[in-house]
Amino acid sequence: MPNKSKKLRYIYLIYWFLLTYIIAALVWWFVALNNQTRQMNQYKINELVPTDKNYTSRLNELKAEEVRKTTQYIGEGSIFLLLILAGAVFVFRAVRRQLKGSQEQQHFMMALTHELKTPIAVAKLNLETLQKRKLDETQQQRLIQTTLQETNRLNALCNNMLLSSQIEAGGYLVTQEETNLSELIAECVQDFITRYPERLILPEIKENLFINSDRLLLQMVVNNLIDNAIKYSPKESKITVRLFDEYDMNVLQVADEGKGIPDEEKIKIFKKFYRIGNQATKAAKGTGLGLYLTKKIVARHRGSITVTDHLPTGAIFTVTLHSTT
Ligand code: ADP
Repeated sequence: MPNKSKKLRYIYLIYWFLLTYIIAALVWWFVALNNQTRQMNQYKINELVPTDKNYTSRLNELKAEEVRKTTQYIGEGSIFLLLILAGAVFVFRAVRRQLKGSQEQQHFMMALTHELKTPIAVAKLNLETLQKRKLDETQQQRLIQTTLQETNRLNALCNNMLLSSQIEAGGYLVTQEETNLSELIAECVQDFITRYPERLILPEIKENLFINSDRLLLQMVVNNLIDNAIKYSPKESKITVRLFDEYDMNVLQVADEGKGIPDEEKIKIFKKFYRIGNQATKAAKGTGLGLYLTKKIVARHRGSITVTDHLPTGAIFTVTLHSTT
């Protein structure tokens, strides 16, 4: 990393040096050209004969010409300067965006490798233990349970990645079928309760609320939000999944009692690969894809997603979708 920031500093240094050189050269050319014009004019003035009856008018003409030339140089020079500055800003922004993008991509790849390797390693170890050792029934069940949890995580991660690239490439066709949102959410919650029996997940779901949606995508929205609530809140705390209707909208809320999300991060967390904190403080596993994808999917359903504080502590993610009535 320090090597990289050193390289970046080097690139910025060259950039500023070149820009300063170009501007200095422009100013130098202006001064040189102006001096040359003034000298030429001076020769012409020296050649004038003071006793000539046209002397004063010629002199004034030459002086006016000099002023006109200087104004012309300043005008043209300013346009050049503006063009150079506009180009410089454009290049600077493009390079910065590119560098930031590749840095994010690198963080993502590191997180992804970790995310992929962990479940595989855990599942492998559990299966080997089951194969080699004679365990009692409860121990066996515990190992099978963690293996299932890990493979489910792997499955969710692969789905997130596949869909991200498909949606971005415009290759995913969102189907619109009438969906019982209440049932879909209740099923997702039940799935999490089975996978995380030690967690307190409370559904408060109003029955028979319908929307037009792509079931698979909507499941991903619900799963991503509950998954985050589990990841970013303490084990003994409560997670509430609410569904209710308001006018012609259906509102899904996932509330947790974790640390919550600081105001300055509330918009950023929906960006691709974005994760709060630096590499060292990121205790929970993740790739920064979940909320990015969630927002995209909600937008594809012409809905909205927001995050607010859950008092006294925690976050509430609210998804609003049009109902079919
Ligand atoms: P990931 O969980 O894979 O890092 P997400 O896109 O799902 O990626 O989330 C982005 C970031 O937003 C997370 O890294 C985390 O810092 C923050 N975040 C998401 N959900 C919550 C939550 N319920 N409570 C606190 N922070 C959260």
